[in-house]
Amino acid sequence: MRIHDHPIQARIESLLSLSQEHADIFCSPSAWLARERYLAAHPTRIVVMKCMDGRIHIPHATRTPLGIITPFRNLGGIFHLGWPYLGEMLTETVYEAIRGGHGVLMIITYHFSRGERARGCAGFDCDSDAALAHAREIRTQAEQLFGHDHRHVYPLVCGFETDGDALLVHGDDDTRLDMSKLALTDASDLERRVTALCPDMPSDIRRDLLPLLEGNLLHVDSLRGVARKLDNEHQEWVICIGRGFDFLHLPNTALIIGPYSPDLSEPIGTAAAIIDANMKSRRIPDDGFLLLASTPYQEAGVDRARAVMKSRFLTSFASRVIHREHPKLAKRMLMRTAVVHWPSRRLELISEA
Ligand SMILES: [Zn+2]
Repeated sequence: MRIHDHPIQARIESLLSLSQEHADIFCSPSAWLARERYLAAHPTRIVVMKCMDGRIHIPHATRTPLGIITPFRNLGGIFHLGWPYLGEMLTETVYEAIRGGHGVLMIITYHFSRGERARGCAGFDCDSDAALAHAREIRTQAEQLFGHDHRHVYPLVCGFETDGDALLVHGDDDTRLDMSKLALTDASDLERRVTALCPDMPSDIRRDLLPLLEGNLLHVDSLRGVARKLDNEHQEWVICIGRGFDFLHLPNTALIIGPYSPDLSEPIGTAAAIIDANMKSRRIPDDGFLLLASTPYQEAGVDRARAVMKSRFLTSFASRVIHREHPKLAKRMLMRTAVVHWPSRRLELISEA
């Protein structure tokens, strides 16, 4: 039996044990060495703006060790860099990289399905042109913040084709590099292609983009000819709100909403509508769904206390929105509030206040 079909309590337990496993692996000497070595060889800091859709997992699709890519998730991959909290988080990430002497690769993604339009992004009513246009707007905003010369922060627009997990890299002047069209033997030619596609990309940033594309090439190739259950794409039974969910490297399990939009009720309402539809069409059992709030913290003391307060706020805020907009669904909601000790990725459940 797949995990999606288990009773809700068993699903929650398996999710929590997954987070324990993730922390154990993350803290293992080998994983620590792998990350340190990766960052030493590829010090460009990588930020990915993406949709909350559970199918979009860039570390998995690019075979990048966990903990290297900093994700920003929201409904539809819809962002505005003027949002107060998002702008602060993003510029903080950029300052930290720059003060350490590193550039930043900012990958702005949208997603679509080649096989069936309806498997596209719900945030854009499956209109991939509109999703791409929005990604380009974010790129323009990034240029306004970090410079049009792209010397230090390189905003790169990328499509993600969810049937085959292939990246579609957009260059200037409507040029594109479609990873699904390449064979494994093209790996040696990737650098030339990227240089042609993005002639102004600094060489250090290009060097650190290439492993992602090589990883994607391998991943896409490994999926060729493999039957994937594409028609049941939406089976999410968890709404995550906050940050610190990288243990959820399972496709189709959770809708992850970052705490970025000044109007959080909109993505929360949409996520609840998706869960409701999943239950109604029996893609998941209707015995319950999980609302999980999490906030990362670095240090004991005030930092942790604030994380606890923030997570509690997020749980109660999201719960209020779901009760108001989906009162029937709200009866099936189970809530968990957590903080994550970020250096170890250890998730700690906290009791309700
Ligand atoms: Zn989407």
